[in-house]
Amino acid sequence: MPGFELWSDAERKEVNDVLETGILMRYGFDGARKGMWKAKELEAALCSRFGSKYAQLLSSGTAALTTALAALGVGAGDEVIMPAFTFVASFEAVLSVGAIPVLVDIDETLTLSPEAVRHAITERTKCIMPVHMCGSMADLDALQAICKEHNLLLLEDACQSIGGTYKGKSLGTIGDAGTFSFDFVKTMTCGEGGVVLTNNKEVYNNCDGYTDHGHDHKGVDRGADLHPFLGYNYRISELHAAVGLAQVRRVDEFLAIQKRNHAALKEILSQVPEVSFRAVPDPEGDSCTFISWFLPNEELTRAVVNEFKARGILGGNFYWFDNNWHYIRKWDHLKSATSLNRLHKDQVAALEHLALKDFSLSDAVMNRCISTSISLLWTEEQVKEKGIKMLEALKDALKKNLEKA
Ligand SMILES: *Cc1c(COP(=O)(O)O)cnc(C)c1O
Repeated sequence: MPGFELWSDAERKEVNDVLETGILMRYGFDGARKGMWKAKELEAALCSRFGSKYAQLLSSGTAALTTALAALGVGAGDEVIMPAFTFVASFEAVLSVGAIPVLVDIDETLTLSPEAVRHAITERTKCIMPVHMCGSMADLDALQAICKEHNLLLLEDACQSIGGTYKGKSLGTIGDAGTFSFDFVKTMTCGEGGVVLTNNKEVYNNCDGYTDHGHDHKGVDRGADLHPFLGYNYRISELHAAVGLAQVRRVDEFLAIQKRNHAALKEILSQVPEVSFRAVPDPEGDSCTFISWFLPNEELTRAVVNEFKARGILGGNFYWFDNNWHYIRKWDHLKSATSLNRLHKDQVAALEHLALKDFSLSDAVMNRCISTSISLLWTEEQVKEKGIKMLEALKDALKKNLEKA
């Protein structure tokens, strides 16, 4: 799953280029950098590999979401509709630009239910943010139709689905903007980093300035830059970009391994009639970082999780329903609007409302779901071994449960 698993001489070489010059910053120092522009090179490589007109690198995926929202003009009091199953970063970004995260139900795609999105639209809705969780994708045709009908922006959080596609286009390049994270556990990594992808020149220009204190990058030197708007510092360093440059060249290798291992595991798990799989709107486009599968009910799912635990094979299997990072059930800090800086009263009111909202439809999906992460290090033999161990545990758990009944 993460690119760091295949750390190599290629990454070391790119980082060494930067260490040789000692120019660790992406802007300026034109002479001293001896032609090394790792961030610029990585942006060009990302545009070319993923089919985006523009790419703006940043210090993290969270910074990418924040910047994309600001660049699209989402701000104070605007509502952003997002799924109840994501990573905390998605709502952090929305809150940080003064907007209101409106969390809604997911369906068996493990991301936004288009029907739930429709129900959540108000006159304050400005943007829909699907999160392509665990390597696969949202139903983008349905979401794009809703955006068109209601004149809303579409921002894809593709942080977890680098290399995934929908009807031939890269996830993250389909909406008005999209983001990848290059943190240490993502499909390709910079150590820390992220990118905003967009085909809209104005959105890109906004990102370019916003990530660097609003400097317009048009001065004869940095000191002469003007400030058409306020910005912050979300810059990536040349060292991080150098790692990413080596990784983006290997991303097809990573994806091929993921797909091979995913297919092998799926074949084994399919032998259990009680197991079903996550709905994937475009199966060709699954980046296969995880295989996500369901059992018929919560009781059986918990029995399987416990059997995996007892056999020491739980590692790499995620039961998101009990997880503190990814599902609304455990986000008490969000639901109680506990923030170090005071939030706007409209944000607080919306979060308190969230605490009372019924997520039983999402619960009924999440409490039956297990996601197995796909390692890049597994050989074909090892996937089979892993699959067979899971299969035996599954069969045993199901048998015990039947005996109990
Ligand atoms: C990782 C991730 C992010 C944020 O990325 P960071 O680079 O860790 O800040 C945002 N959204 C999702 C769904 C993620 O998994």
